[in-house]
Amino acid sequence: AMYEAKDAGGSQYYVYHDEMYQRVAQRVMLESEVRQALSKNQFSLSLQPQLTAKEKKLYGLEALLRWHHPERGMVSPDDFIPILEKSEHMVELGYWVIRQCFEISKDLRIKGYTDVRIAINLSAGQFIDINLPKYLISLLDEFAVPASGFELELTEQTLVTDIERAISTMNNLKELGFTFAIDDFGTGYSSLAYLKRMPVDVIKIDKSFVFGMLENHADYQIIMSTIAMVKNLGLIVVAEGVESSAQLRSLTESQCDIIQGYYFSKPVPEGEIFSFLDSQIVD
Ligand code: C2E
Ligand code: CA
Ligand code: CA
Ligand code: CA
Repeated sequence: AMYEAKDAGGSQYYVYHDEMYQRVAQRVMLESEVRQALSKNQFSLSLQPQLTAKEKKLYGLEALLRWHHPERGMVSPDDFIPILEKSEHMVELGYWVIRQCFEISKDLRIKGYTDVRIAINLSAGQFIDINLPKYLISLLDEFAVPASGFELELTEQTLVTDIERAISTMNNLKELGFTFAIDDFGTGYSSLAYLKRMPVDVIKIDKSFVFGMLENHADYQIIMSTIAMVKNLGLIVVAEGVESSAQLRSLTESQCDIIQGYYFSKPVPEGEIFSFLDSQIVD
């Protein structure tokens, strides 16, 4: 009906209005579905291995959210997380993710994978939530796992929301033993000056630079200077989105520490992670 009202003068307005309506409708729909989805166990985590570049030893597992929607099938986190981040539902879902990760960390210990870190993505709203430190402390107690078993991934976006607050929360959590990674490095607007003020352990080079690194001179140079800078700061550098042996070789030669990407493994559903890990052991 909207489209019938279009005429030469008004089409712009109607098309815009229609798109906006759809976006709002989709957002309301998704928001209302999230609570249900949580209680109906439609969310799960997949875990993507991170390996040391040189020795190919398991360094960590990044927890990645999956939504198995009954009608829409698998919904990508890139489609629902940006929508949820505008509501308080992301905070609630984020707490669910954190709890799952503590369970996985405990299981890893039981199965003997004691020095494997679980990397948890934190949204901006979640990181500035005043209850986050309390919640993490209560989980450390409940699951009896060390905080050093977790790497909290923050994006530059998360940090610019309230930089002073972010730094103070990071310092508090750092004292408890949690480690921090800056995710999607190079894609945001944060200043390099913040790096020296934040208790960061790890920098993750975004996959958008890695994909074309061997074809695109600029991407290659950005990666090489990022690795050099991160190493000079005494931090760990992770490259994500590594899909080929040529990329792996080039990154390893340039002293990149950790590799994550389809070349080693796609994210593995939580329920399959231990059979996957056990089958990977090569001595
Ligand atoms: P991200 O944190 O940058 O995670 C890496 C994304 O790159 C994941 O997509 C992963 O599956 C994908 N990836 C890894 N290696 C490769 C590769 O070699 N090739 C390609 N093509 N892709 C690769 P995914 O799982 O779809 O997640 C998308 C984004 O959703 C994440 O990007 C993150 O920003 C967000 N996300 C996922 N889970 C959570 C969560 O629990 N909490 C929050 N706040 N955000 C999450
Ligand atoms: Ca991440
Ligand atoms: Ca990324
Ligand atoms: Ca991201």
